[in-house]
Amino acid sequence: MTERLTCARAVMRHHGLDALAVVPGSNLRYLAGLELQTRLRLTLMLVPLDGQPALVLPAMEQARAMAASPIDLRYYPWSDADGPDGALARAVNDAGLAGSTIGIEHTTMRVFELRALEQVAVEARFADATPLLAGMRAVKDAEELAAMREAVRVIEMTLHETLAQVRIGMLEREIAEIWDRAIRAHGCLPAFETTVASGPNGANPHHTSGDRALQDGDLVVFDGGAVYQGYVSDITRTCAVGRLADDMRQVYDLVLAANAAGRAAAGTPGATGESIDAAARRVIETGGYGPHFIHRTGHGIGLDIHEPPFIVAGNRVPLPAGTTFTVEPGIYLRGVCGVRIEDDVVITTNGAESLTTFPRELLSIGH
Ligand code: ZN
Ligand code: ZN
Repeated sequence: MTERLTCARAVMRHHGLDALAVVPGSNLRYLAGLELQTRLRLTLMLVPLDGQPALVLPAMEQARAMAASPIDLRYYPWSDADGPDGALARAVNDAGLAGSTIGIEHTTMRVFELRALEQVAVEARFADATPLLAGMRAVKDAEELAAMREAVRVIEMTLHETLAQVRIGMLEREIAEIWDRAIRAHGCLPAFETTVASGPNGANPHHTSGDRALQDGDLVVFDGGAVYQGYVSDITRTCAVGRLADDMRQVYDLVLAANAAGRAAAGTPGATGESIDAAARRVIETGGYGPHFIHRTGHGIGLDIHEPPFIVAGNRVPLPAGTTFTVEPGIYLRGVCGVRIEDDVVITTNGAESLTTFPRELLSIGH
């Protein structure tokens, strides 16, 4: 974790930042190993270019933070009676941040946190550090990858367990609950709302599992993820209940080919978000279903379920080894069905590896 701070400082120097101000969330967890809740009591880590990082926090949280963080922090606790302004002013002064350029998280920091900082960091300038931190976080080290492999192992094992219990007539939400329980039973938490979308509901990529009962002839989309030591997995498989109509089978095969093309493109030297998206999309367009592939091909995964890099047109930076993301092409036919096949992929030094290995051939369930 101290290497992450060293790396962050090199990136800060390169971008002309004198300090970083990090609020509770994935970036604080990444840099300081601290999993703190985003509540209304001001909590903020300041990382100057040189010297000890400072943590301004409610006094009642200090003992827990000191026990949890592996890095050497200087603490600036504040009490409810005093409020945070004095502690924050001391931290900013000690770090010599008046007139400096401070990197903040545009997508995470809240207005009251910025206002508090502006008030005490006299004549400081603020710049968005979100992309710099996202760039660091995109490339996973061995420890992070090991956690993600475990999250993948649990989500695949529990998907197997769940599919074995599915019967015609069961409700989507009953099946989603079985999957959720299995994830928890294996010591993980669901990474997001576990989705079971059957028949026409599969045409909505963000369907909430509901009261529809599985019927003969359905395609059913299963999308779930597990969190292990803060790191997520994310998998989608689409299964058939009973006998499928021929055109649905064709749609399935097209998505399967698009998924394979996307993973193959990821393994090509110099692969980019754009090249992977184009490879998957081309298959579906050639098959005549281009307008029905209504989202990007994938998203980065790690501490967050959706994080950079996004696998989408316009993303032309080659993905470095260690980058983890999903490949999840889909076809959505309103009122009929949906198909999506999602894998978690890591770029390696000589190609790409799919962390998810659950069978991709069409599985028949419900009997
Ligand atoms: Zn998913
Ligand atoms: Zn996903």
